[in-house]
Amino acid sequence: MARTRLVAGNWKMHGTRASNRALLDAILKGLAKGPECAVCVPFPYLGEVAKQLAGTPLRWGAQNVSEHERGAFTGEVSAAMLAEFGCRYVIVGHSERRHLYCESDAQVAAKFTAAHGAGLVPILCVGETLAERDAGLTEEVVARQLDAVLGKGAFSGAVLAYEPVWAIGTGRTATPHQAQAVHAFLRKRLSREVRILYGGSVKASNAAALFAMPDIDGGLIGGASLVAEEFLAIVQAAAKG
Ligand code: PEP
Repeated sequence: MARTRLVAGNWKMHGTRASNRALLDAILKGLAKGPECAVCVPFPYLGEVAKQLAGTPLRWGAQNVSEHERGAFTGEVSAAMLAEFGCRYVIVGHSERRHLYCESDAQVAAKFTAAHGAGLVPILCVGETLAERDAGLTEEVVARQLDAVLGKGAFSGAVLAYEPVWAIGTGRTATPHQAQAVHAFLRKRLSREVRILYGGSVKASNAAALFAMPDIDGGLIGGASLVAEEFLAIVQAAAKG
């Protein structure tokens, strides 16, 4: 069964109500048929984004979720709350969460389980640092990060994103062959229908070459998802490949 490609934007902590509306309007005008597309937006904008995107082909989601169902967890947002705002996707284990907020493999796995349990599609991010790559530890690191989640139950319906930490927001992209090698390694641990996205400085200029690889099923896009023409060009590349 062919896997439908997915191009998901990660807006990180960017945007205003006005700029979000303009960005989404521009994306909606140019959206290509073919790949599934989504934007993962900051929590406070979910309500407005949901209203603007309802009934359009563009889906929406969040960038983080609590591992807890409810309770005294000041500042946290539960999976059920995200579901109530119509989120389809939620990113879990982004390297910025792992490194800046010290999220452990176990905590990421708990977040994944919470998201799955609420009917959301978790986008699990895995990836090695430059030091780990240079030490030949890439496969060991991504396998450990993925296995923490696989050990807790089924991955079915979820999405995996390989995001080498050294390529995120740096302008330095993994070559298509470097990315494909890790995707092929990860694919062996998953069933055939699971989509594996590549993330790390994907732009209009490099997307087609990455998406031409057999185990790359789309992209998780940071900076380039904030510019409508760039994001649309990446979607076009996913539509073709
Ligand atoms: C990301 O934040 O997931 C990401 C891949 O960022 P960028 O595309 O900016 O490298």
